[in-house]
This record gives sequence, structure tokens and C-alpha cells, in this order.
Amino acid sequence: MATVSVYNFAAGPGTMPREVLSQARQELLDWEQSGLPVMEMPFTGEEFQAIQQQAQQDLRELLGVPSDYRILFLQGGASAQFALLPMNLLPHGGRADYLDTGYWSRKAMAEGGRYARIRIAASGAAHGYRYIPSQDEWKLDPEAGYCHITSNETADGLEYHWLPDTGSVPLVADMTSDFLSRPIDIERFGVIYAGAQKNIGPAGLTIVIVRENLLNSARPETPSAFNYRVQAESEGRFNTPLTYAIYIAGLVFRWLKRQGDLGAIALRNRRKSDRLYEAIDASELYACRIRKEDRSLMNVCFDLADASLTAEFLLQAQRRGLLHLQGHPSRGGVRASLYNAMPEPGVEALIDFMQDFASRHVGLHAVNCLSHPR
Ligand SMILES: *Cc1c(COP(=O)(O)O)cnc(C)c1O
Repeated sequence: MATVSVYNFAAGPGTMPREVLSQARQELLDWEQSGLPVMEMPFTGEEFQAIQQQAQQDLRELLGVPSDYRILFLQGGASAQFALLPMNLLPHGGRADYLDTGYWSRKAMAEGGRYARIRIAASGAAHGYRYIPSQDEWKLDPEAGYCHITSNETADGLEYHWLPDTGSVPLVADMTSDFLSRPIDIERFGVIYAGAQKNIGPAGLTIVIVRENLLNSARPETPSAFNYRVQAESEGRFNTPLTYAIYIAGLVFRWLKRQGDLGAIALRNRRKSDRLYEAIDASELYACRIRKEDRSLMNVCFDLADASLTAEFLLQAQRRGLLHLQGHPSRGGVRASLYNAMPEPGVEALIDFMQDFASRHVGLHAVNCLSHPR
């Protein structure tokens, strides 16, 4: 395997484990002496069924998904789920609560609001999304069909490090950017969904984990390919699934299992992001505006105290092989995405570069760097 000299900090599609890609390359033309590439396999055939079932089983084990939850491999991305959730869970005119914690929760609301009556149970907007409102700020509707959170705000750099209590209202989470980054108590959720391209595999594949007792509330006009019950009953054979993406996701699940359990993976993720936040907090040139308790382990967002240096910072980083560090267009600045597949040396290389850049610029801009709003 070639040495990795380039690190991809993109928020999504994100960096992939090199071992997985090289295994996929090896198997590209002939999967396990079957004589066939995975891409050409009939999806109902024995071989692909084995791949799909293994991926399901590995995911179930990794996450500890109880037997009364179904795992669906769907298409359309997380954004399709923004509309499909209300279609699958609520009758016409049904109500749902949403937590407004940043860019992606707003997207979820905008789309969900076309199919449901949506209430904002709490919002971080007034404070510029610097923190996740604590549960005592939430005003929950006990009659809501579900309560929606975005467990990690990819664009803003916020993450829940606790789980809300929504009583008998099913908790629904968009886990697109922190899926499989840490252990979760699935039983606290009614539905979890995640687009694959952040922490799992190729874009398009969308994982939905749904409690069985929620499988019977879809509106009749819900497209069958996106109807959770139809997909669960057909075991992913309702129509051609994303065969190649499912195969790659399966390789990623295997790779994760080789690292240990999700507890071990979470520890490593914690170590990586702690190192980076420490470097940010220790420097006069860099500042993270997110409250410490709510900082994301996956998407570390920060600003340069002198914003006019941001473009130069990004350009020099790129020249060092530190790619795609630009912040989300909605907020600018810098964002380093540290998904499972980002190795620790990648984080160290970024910190080295940041310190080097600061030593070359901080003196020149000391006057501008004296205070950062927190
Ligand atoms: C990237 C992202 C999405 C959008 O995913 P698509 O697959 O592009 O629709 C939704 N939610 C979160 C939290 C994301 O990070």
C-alpha cells in the first residue's frame, strides 16, 4: 500500500479507510473467486445476498441494534429522509417537534414542513448556534408524532453529548455525520437515519434504522421504494438496491470491527478532536466559537482571529496535502472533519501546520488577535 501523504478533511464525501479501498481494488474484477465483479452480481442472487446479509449483521453487532429494529439500506441521501420521515410516520396534518441546532436541522425542518405541521421545540438561533439548548429549554408537544434532532451539526460543529427524554414521543435522529463514531443506545430512538458519505461509504446509500412498531403509519401515497414497511418486508429486494455501495459499506463495517468496538473507536475519536481543540484554544490565532460541552468530535469548526488570513491558511494547508479544510459556505472559516477513517497522524500533521502558520503570522496580527468572542 502506498504511503498516505495527503489527508482529506472534507465534510462529505469524507475520507475512506485506505485498507477498505485497496481491498475493493483487489476484488474489483473478481469477488472471492466467484468470477464476477460485485457490480455485475444479480441483487437477488446468492452471492450478493450473502454480502448484504453480512453487512446487516455486522452493522447490527457494531451498533447493538435490538431485534425489534429493522435496518434498511435505502437510496436518496439524508435529504430524501427529511421528507420521507413525515410521510412514513405521520398522517396528513400530523405534528412533529424539531430541535433547531444549526444548518442541517433547518434543512430537515424546511423539507419536513412541506409534509407536516412542524414546531420548533427549542432553538440555538438567537445565540448564533454556539450551543445545543439543554433539555430544560425544550418545549415538547406531547401529541407530536415524533421529535427530531440532528445529533451532529456538520456545518456548525455542534454535537449532542447527551440524549433527550421525549417521553412516549418517538425520538428521531439525523446521524449522518456521527453515525458509528461512538456507541449509542438505540432503544432511546424510534428512527435513526444517516447518509453514508460522511462516515460509512459511497454517497447515495442511506441507512435507516426503525423500530418495528413504527412500520405501519406510512401514508398510502408514500413511494413504495421509500416506504419503510415495504422495504423491511422485502428485505431490501423491493427494487435494485445500491449493490456496490452496500458492499463497500460492508467492508467499512468489517474494518471498524477490526478496530475493536464502538467504545474503542469513540476513544480514538475523542483523542483526535481533543488534540485539535487544545491546539485551537492554546493559540491566539485560532478560535472555536462553540461551547466546550457541545463541540463536535467529527467536524471541528474554527476561525482565524484575523479572517483576512483564512484564504492564505487554506491555500498553504492544501500545498501541504491537507485538503478541503474550508468551512461550510453557510459560516465560512475552517472546518476539519475527523471521521473514523481520519488517522491520528493526519490530525498531528494539521496541528503541526497550524502551529507553523501561527508562528509565521501571529506576531504580524497580534493587535487583531487580542479578543475572540466566546
Ligand atoms: C451531509 C448531511 C446531510 C445531507 O446528506 P445528503 O446525503 O447530501 O442528502 C444531512 N444531514 C446531515 C447532518 C449531514 O451532515
